[in-house]
Amino acid sequence: MDEHTVLPIQLPERPAVLIVVSGPSGVGKDAAIKRMRDLRYPFYFLVTNTTRPKRSDEIEGVDYHFVTKEQFLEMQQRGEFLERAVVYGYDYGNSKREVKEALARGQDVIMRIDVQGAATIKRMVADAIFIFLLPPSMEILEARLRKRRTEPEDYLRLRLHAARLEMNEVDKFDYAIVNEDDALDETAELIYAIIRAEKYRVKPRRVNL
Ligand code: 5GP
Repeated sequence: MDEHTVLPIQLPERPAVLIVVSGPSGVGKDAAIKRMRDLRYPFYFLVTNTTRPKRSDEIEGVDYHFVTKEQFLEMQQRGEFLERAVVYGYDYGNSKREVKEALARGQDVIMRIDVQGAATIKRMVADAIFIFLLPPSMEILEARLRKRRTEPEDYLRLRLHAARLEMNEVDKFDYAIVNEDDALDETAELIYAIIRAEKYRVKPRRVNL
């Protein structure tokens, strides 16, 4: 054997990772992830099941799986959800099987989830990678929510109030990125860079579901 071609140590194998992208409503989680999809980043983008009505610009199976309350309850009874939450009156839940299958194939999984959901995932999967997106300011967050114009004013107030509280949770995350205006490419690239760097850990994270 040629000794020069062999390392005297063994590097650990690199298991697929679970990435949780979180942050307050309106911060741009969906837009950042959509940008990552458009840039053809090689991840498995988990699509949440929700009972919330579809917005006009949303696509079934891409933005969400839009399901009825009955369908959601059936899935829940079958124990299909990794995490499940009620957010602003609607149900949201991610399929555990989808995550497990992608990870088993060696594909890194990205999920976007609200801050309470991220805390739930953290209790279950401590070795996931937790990324928090922040708005540049509360005024900009409000402007983004208004631009979306999907909620009546009192819902908007509710979301802004929740956002202030959620911002205090940032220290429970591994990484924080300020999602600047018109800088989706940069946010997407930063998320990608974090995941790339994680692949070089001497002690890799291991996700057991
Ligand atoms: P929206 O209805 O505006 O798309 O989402 C409302 C909030 O629910 C957002 O903060 C969104 O990221 C979050 N959300 C989306 N999918 C999930 C999920 O599977 N679990 C939890 N806990 N929150 C989610």
